[in-house]
Amino acid sequence: MLDIKITNGWVIDGSGGARRRCDVGITGERVSAVGDLSTMAARREIDATGKIVAPGFIDVHGHDDLMFVERPDLRWKTSQGITTVVVGNCGVSGAPAPIPGNTAAALALLGETPLFADMATYFATLESQRPMINVAALVGHANLRLATMADPRGKPTADEQAAMETLLDQALTAGAVGFSTGLAYDPGACADFDELAGLARVAVRHQALHTSHIRNEADEVEAAVDEVLRVGRETRCASVLSHHKCMLPRNWGRSAMTLANMDRARAEGLDVALDIYPYPGSSTILIPERAEIIDDIRITWSTPHPECSGEFLRDIAQRWGCDKTEAARRLSPAGAIYFAMDEAEVQRIFQHDGCMVGSDGLPNDAQPHPRLWGTFPRVLGRYVREAQIVTLEQAVAKMTALPARVFGLADRGCLREGAWADVVVFDADTVIDRATWDAPTEESSGIDVVMVNGAQVYPVAPEGNRPGRVLKRTRQKTQS
Ligand SMILES: [Zn+2]
Repeated sequence: MLDIKITNGWVIDGSGGARRRCDVGITGERVSAVGDLSTMAARREIDATGKIVAPGFIDVHGHDDLMFVERPDLRWKTSQGITTVVVGNCGVSGAPAPIPGNTAAALALLGETPLFADMATYFATLESQRPMINVAALVGHANLRLATMADPRGKPTADEQAAMETLLDQALTAGAVGFSTGLAYDPGACADFDELAGLARVAVRHQALHTSHIRNEADEVEAAVDEVLRVGRETRCASVLSHHKCMLPRNWGRSAMTLANMDRARAEGLDVALDIYPYPGSSTILIPERAEIIDDIRITWSTPHPECSGEFLRDIAQRWGCDKTEAARRLSPAGAIYFAMDEAEVQRIFQHDGCMVGSDGLPNDAQPHPRLWGTFPRVLGRYVREAQIVTLEQAVAKMTALPARVFGLADRGCLREGAWADVVVFDADTVIDRATWDAPTEESSGIDVVMVNGAQVYPVAPEGNRPGRVLKRTRQKTQS
């Protein structure tokens, strides 16, 4: 007797192979059968006639660390078919907490909850209250600096470097899947090569990885990519280039060079992957130095001027009778969306073999970037169905099996007997994002049913419990 039987759907198993018409049986938290299950009884049957049945999507780039505590329903994830998120990106994570007095502006991306003392405490908290979806965590490099350095904007002393490495070692022992750097942000930007290599060597001992918001995504993008590749070359640490992009029209097209450099590294045997979100606008904290460089900047939140959320910086500056840089200073601390990417280039980067999908959603923003609610259905609707730049099977692989391999998440990202029952049922003909720049929290459509570890989480979680798990790195592959 199966617990759940999903009948008559087209199963895309995550491998990239062609869809096939069959049933999926679930027993407890696992997939127990895939095939013709017409003779098997089940407590619940889901008719998926005409629909796609796929592994739940893995969002490789989240900032939901504290949202698992603050807003644990995570509707912006489940409504997209996301069943696992990797948090702790861009150098900032829910743990470890800074030394009192140390802080960094980028920590505001995470939320209001105080940071956790260490990763073990963070994981124990999530496990005791249960996460709605599965979560894997990176340790933020900014956190490591803020937790160990008397002057986090300086160069670490030998003792401070050793303390950072010890903290990282403890976090990886607790189950973190790697560490993230935010080299474009304070204080991550203060790090030099030796500091990063020292941390990467600790990660290698745990077979964990390094993800990076690189030092520069505009005029210096090639050197910034090469810096991360060099850390990988010299330490053999696997790396992921986060939300890869080339900003400002004068740099559009330079991904031809950055991707070629990644390909060379991959050909040498380096483990390098990347991710994108499917939009031509980016979003992070408001950076006044960008005010005159980028024409279109839209405010997502502001502590001193919350009424300005959703407005364009140029309109605010005009109303205030000041220049845009001054307006940005008055709005800070604040967040913004920057329109400075080429959509055609985003689509080209997406087609790269090593490219995954990461929402980079910022759930704490008053008027967030629509990627928070729309990323995965947008790929399926606009890149697959409308633009046809990859097949549906390829897109699903980029959202499932590829990230499961890169992040070492065993028995995830695939639909086969024995795998964890993370499943999404969707309509390939209608799936689409509905979140826009003006209405960024509209739920997507075309996602029918989402299950995490065999329990439904969307459209409702009828069991009333949260079925997610903390995923700790279990490494299957070996790297020379
Ligand atoms: Zn980032």
